[in-house]
Amino acid sequence: MLYIAIIIPLLIAWWVASDAKKRGYSQAAIVSWFLGVWLVLIIFLPLYFILRPNSTILRPKPTGQTNAIEGTYVCPYCGNLYREKVPFCPYCGRGLEEDGS
Ligand SMILES: [Zn+2]
Repeated sequence: MLYIAIIIPLLIAWWVASDAKKRGYSQAAIVSWFLGVWLVLIIFLPLYFILRPNSTILRPKPTGQTNAIEGTYVCPYCGNLYREKVPFCPYCGRGLEEDGS
């Protein structure tokens, strides 16, 4: 039975190490997680699931008024570009307040 008590945590630790590698952990961190899960499975396995970063990193999407060019805005009414965040479009004169409708 002692054999199983060593092998099963070892397999789980191996999976954690490969999972940590996929998520971009450093070599030292991978070894630490491997040993931690293997030796103190009950503590380190839940800890790993709490601390690991999400596989898909959510990046904030640019708002509708921000163009691909950095610091440039697009008028939602006439489509002209302007550099300053002004309350009114300098081309068509319509209000550009984000909350105003
Ligand atoms: Zn405009």
